[in-house]
Amino acid sequence: MILVFLGPPGSGKGTQAKKLAAMHQWPQLSTGDMLRAAIKKRTPIGIEAERYMQDGKLAPDSLVIGLIRDRIREPDSKPGFILDGFPRTVTQAEALDQMLTELNRTVDLAILFQVPDQALIQRLSGRRTCLNCGAMFHTETLRPKNEGTCDTCQSPLVQREDDHEGVIQKRLKIYHEATEPLVEYYNKNGKLKIINASLETSQVNALVEKTLAASAQ
Ligand code: AMP
Repeated sequence: MILVFLGPPGSGKGTQAKKLAAMHQWPQLSTGDMLRAAIKKRTPIGIEAERYMQDGKLAPDSLVIGLIRDRIREPDSKPGFILDGFPRTVTQAEALDQMLTELNRTVDLAILFQVPDQALIQRLSGRRTCLNCGAMFHTETLRPKNEGTCDTCQSPLVQREDDHEGVIQKRLKIYHEATEPLVEYYNKNGKLKIINASLETSQVNALVEKTLAASAQ
């Protein structure tokens, strides 16, 4: 199963991708995580991507397409995978289709995680992320047991540079302009499913599973 998780920043697609990956043995391929890892290691890709990310802008298409091209050829991607945060532009979606055709594969479903902008701003501005394991908390809705410390690995929690309010607005604007056209892209080829992602995490998870089960029939 090849799944595309579409949705604005803060819609919870990363959280849902992690849950699904654990349940179905499909790796979660998050270009955001790949780029953050590259930045941490100071690789040439990381150094190039950093200035775009800090500013809330999209990294160049060629750079993220290259990352995905290599990753989907890894042996663990054989049974299927979940694309989380890729594609984000029509150019990326077309490149993905081309890459998959070369491998005799295709996107099975694109799931849109729909959340109103106002709720996203509230989610993202209160989000705190573990520097070490990437676990996410929220200053109001998901507080860690000890203030500023990850429940899982006890490392410090930080506010991502791109989760500051000014940058959030910019990321949402870019989402509407560059990524939202993908809704029509996947709708046209009958692969789009829309989920109300304003609900609780567990309810959204149930909707995702229901969508998958329905598509398998
Ligand atoms: P995310 O963790 O998915 O919210 O991604 C964080 C940032 O990484 C984005 O704001 C972009 O700067 C960059 N990024 C991640 N995925 C992509 C992509 N598919 N295309 C371009 N930039 C990306």
